[in-house]
Amino acid sequence: MLMTEKKYKFWFCTGSQDLYGDECLAHVAEHAKIIVEKLNESGVLPYEVVWKPTLITNELIRKTFNEANIDDECAGVITWMHTFSPAKSWILGLQEFRKPLLHLHTQFNMEIPYDTIDMDFMNENQSAHGDREYGHIVSRMRIERKVVVGHWSDPVVVGKIASWMRTAVGIMESSHIRVMRVADNMRNVAVTEGDKVEAQIKFGWEVDAYPVNEIADYVKDVAKGDVDALVDEYYILLEGRDPEEFKKHVAVQAQIELGFERFLKEKNYQAIVTHFGDLGALKQLPGLAIQRLMEKGYGFGAEGDWKTAAMVRLMKIMTAGMKDAKGTSMMEDYTYNLVPGKEGILQSHMLEVCPSVADGKPAIKVCPLSMGEREDPARLVFTSKTGPAIATSLVDLGDRFRLIINDVDCKKVEKPMPKLPVGSAFWTPQPDLATGAEAWILAGGAHHTAFTYDLTAEQMGDWAAAMGIEAVYIDKDTTIRNFKNELRWNEIAFRR
Ligand code: MN
Repeated sequence: MLMTEKKYKFWFCTGSQDLYGDECLAHVAEHAKIIVEKLNESGVLPYEVVWKPTLITNELIRKTFNEANIDDECAGVITWMHTFSPAKSWILGLQEFRKPLLHLHTQFNMEIPYDTIDMDFMNENQSAHGDREYGHIVSRMRIERKVVVGHWSDPVVVGKIASWMRTAVGIMESSHIRVMRVADNMRNVAVTEGDKVEAQIKFGWEVDAYPVNEIADYVKDVAKGDVDALVDEYYILLEGRDPEEFKKHVAVQAQIELGFERFLKEKNYQAIVTHFGDLGALKQLPGLAIQRLMEKGYGFGAEGDWKTAAMVRLMKIMTAGMKDAKGTSMMEDYTYNLVPGKEGILQSHMLEVCPSVADGKPAIKVCPLSMGEREDPARLVFTSKTGPAIATSLVDLGDRFRLIINDVDCKKVEKPMPKLPVGSAFWTPQPDLATGAEAWILAGGAHHTAFTYDLTAEQMGDWAAAMGIEAVYIDKDTTIRNFKNELRWNEIAFRR
């Protein structure tokens, strides 16, 4: 399967000790089982939670964490100290643990049982106490983890666990992302470049280049029958257009799609970059073909932008299987509307915008590219959904990576754009265009972004933290004075 082969699960590990007697430990186990059962029944969590026997000794903690490490389907561990659990017991296990960690700071009862509370109850239900002891050692050991606080039945708490699960799967899956580069980066372009060795060390990404004609050979070898079958599928999208006018151009994209996909599958790549200036034997710049591949879940970056390709792939994995997902795509900042009160950025690309973000049904058009020297490529044309979203840009600052995350509000443009033959979106960056764009430029953000409606800035920031890289947020709270200070301080915080 393209998205992920694994059926990920999360382990629920409860901490305690044997100081309080067997009856207390029986309650601890019973409570934890109920919490796990209710979390799974909530219907909100994208992955299953699995109850594990209560952890009360150094040996068991160490053994459990190591079992979690080697279990391919375990995407992370959720820890909770029901009673007091002396935190030195956790040191060796935590030291050896290599997967995402969530500290659920909850307790079994919601309310203090005023009429009946006695010291037995206090000893049995002391997460406020035990979770602080545990939290201390995790902080002292400088281990990256998520802390979620509140009663386990609270929908807000369950929602936070659900959202973290997607981040955790992003952390786990990052090292399975392999990017196929068709040719090199666009000449002289700086922001799409970067250190691929460091990217593999930090994120686990494998980024390989192929001569364009090696892929063009796969395109050439696609059987005519397969191309015709796909063109027929495309034509379902066409509605009322004259088939002859488009058929030839559309068939070229169908052939590219099939040839590229065979190459990607055969060589196990999940993301792709192309470059309009290096097309070899390809008859058209891959447009419609790339749009369809992105819609299937492949990452994409244009002009050799492998960082964006990997990020789009990552975000597609993180949103996999999401109900009512609104879409994830590469985007490019193109042109502004600077009319007061109507400020925003028109987003698009030459061709390659993922139709998952489309509002309604896209149309196929064949138009000149006005760049390069190939025949007119077919592409899907649409405008995008409205609502909140995030635009992210991963940049290489020479000594480190920085992830810039901007909350944006997607809107409809005021009027149709009948002469614009590409997929597009229009958004106003938070806190407003002037501040958002100024902060973006100060942070060194690119013109290409990995964009999604379906993840939050917090999820992407948590992913960056787990990767050990810098993340900066541009959102409703951003002021330029504070943002500049943050960048200045981060220079020191990330110095090595
Ligand atoms: Mn571009």
